[in-house]
Amino acid sequence: MALTETVPAAPAHEGILRRQSLRESAARTYARSLPIVPVRARGLTIEGADGRRYLDCLSGAGTLALGHNHPVVLEAIRTVLDSGAPLHVLDLATPVKDAFTTELFATLPRELAEKARIQFCGPAGTDAVEAAFKLVRTATGRDGLMAFSGAYHGMTAEALAASGGAQHTSVVRLPYPYDYRCPFGTGGERGAELAARWTQSLLDDHKSGVPHPAGMILEPVQGEGGVIPAPDSWLRRMREITAARQIPLIVDEVQTGVGRTGAFWAVDHSGIVPDVIVLSKAIGGSLPLAVIVYREELDSWQPGAHAGTFRGNQLAMAAGAATLAYVRANGLDRRAGELGARMLTRLDSLAAAHDCIGEVRGRGLMLGVELVDRDADADATGARPADPVLAAAVRDACLDRGLIVELGGRHSAVVRLLPPLTITDEQADAILDRLADALTAAVRTTPGPTGSSPTTMRGTTP
Ligand code: PMP
Repeated sequence: MALTETVPAAPAHEGILRRQSLRESAARTYARSLPIVPVRARGLTIEGADGRRYLDCLSGAGTLALGHNHPVVLEAIRTVLDSGAPLHVLDLATPVKDAFTTELFATLPRELAEKARIQFCGPAGTDAVEAAFKLVRTATGRDGLMAFSGAYHGMTAEALAASGGAQHTSVVRLPYPYDYRCPFGTGGERGAELAARWTQSLLDDHKSGVPHPAGMILEPVQGEGGVIPAPDSWLRRMREITAARQIPLIVDEVQTGVGRTGAFWAVDHSGIVPDVIVLSKAIGGSLPLAVIVYREELDSWQPGAHAGTFRGNQLAMAAGAATLAYVRANGLDRRAGELGARMLTRLDSLAAAHDCIGEVRGRGLMLGVELVDRDADADATGARPADPVLAAAVRDACLDRGLIVELGGRHSAVVRLLPPLTITDEQADAILDRLADALTAAVRTTPGPTGSSPTTMRGTTP
């Protein structure tokens, strides 16, 4: 059927957007920067009510491992619907849940899966983070938590307290190994090692003012924090430090999981085995689902210690099991690693051509381009101040060219790419062509933060 026969005309699109801005809260987020009314989607592509098509590199904030409406996901959902199975079952056992758990455990690090428990949480990632905190507090009888600068764990009270945007918090903050803006001014493995030593000294110095904590939470690659992959050596150090001190290590794989970083779980790169793993987003195959999986020794919870009405979403479990199985059977984790590395090489050429790119980085298909003040002097480590105005201009220019990207990072100056793991080489090229073109256009029209005229380009775009 032709698009024009099914989609509302442009005035309907405008009316919907106008009503949204009048009726929805001031806290709305993506809707502000992406004035799109999606009516149809498949794979990498979204169609808006105005008839425009976009390449979606936001993928539901990293949720859509297989892109929009993948046939195996639709088939799994239809099978449940056609079977007459109940859609709401609280936390009762069902064949669908049983199959999901089996599939999930088959993908997890064996040492964890062999002696693991799973808790189905309320359907958002943030609820699973709350559950993880509650679990380790109950198991250790201790209260404090350790988290990292720049982290993002969600929007409920405790998850927010452990995130970089916290306003009031009792969570102890540790330095994350952010190479480009290394807090120790060295970067590289040395910076990561100094960050590890700081953590160790806080724990071992009886006068550090940091009581022995109930747990430590970290992201193997900070996503919202600006696409910052932690070195594997640093992750192994965190594992050693916590294990030696009986501190449960909680790894938040809400965004990095299900092949995104080039391994099925991001912890697989370093080989560390967490005590608790927090999972959401892609595990629901585009529908809401969140769980924690943890070492069975930690399971000292009383019945109902972490409950919730919506812990039994059968459609999400079916869609999630189909997604996990598809990623596993088709080696999409490896594919994400290979394609991501190629895209990073092209982004490196883009960085070589533009003064305004401070760094490009990422792991697998979790990629980021940090935009900086092209006129400012670099500090001792080579970093320059972030340029959020230019980043917003790039995002808008991408949208004009039919490419959806979002911003992340400390100053919202990191353009993030989170395409589905299913994209073809040609689609990857199309994404990077549009991004390069958008960057050139944005640089041309956006003055530098220190008021300079538009920057000059070095060489050619990739
Ligand atoms: N942890 C991480 C690493 C995330 O990226 C997010 C969401 N971006 C969350 C937790 C919270 O998930 P949700 O938005 O589903 O609550």
